[in-house]
Amino acid sequence: MKVNIKSWTAVAAWRWDMPEDDVCGICRSPYDSTCSKCKYPGDECPLLWGECNHCFHAHCIFVWIRAETSHGRCPMCRQEWKIVAKVSQD
Ligand SMILES: [Zn+2]
Ligand SMILES: [Zn+2]
Ligand SMILES: [Zn+2]
Repeated sequence: MKVNIKSWTAVAAWRWDMPEDDVCGICRSPYDSTCSKCKYPGDECPLLWGECNHCFHAHCIFVWIRAETSHGRCPMCRQEWKIVAKVSQD
């Protein structure tokens, strides 16, 4: 059990070493910027990381998930959207 948790943490950390030019798949703004509706990065506009290894601004994915056409799935890979991490930017 401990080994599983350790490897999970390692994978999660590795995921954050993705290329810096990565952009939110919904609004196409960079992860280190805000979504298209916010002016300032920070707690107001956190990033949500999904179990499928896709990441979006919280505001972007909330709007998407609320839409009936989303069926509760990730807009990039169509897997069921499950949040595994919330990341606030300073
Ligand atoms: Zn976005
Ligand atoms: Zn926002
Ligand atoms: Zn996905």
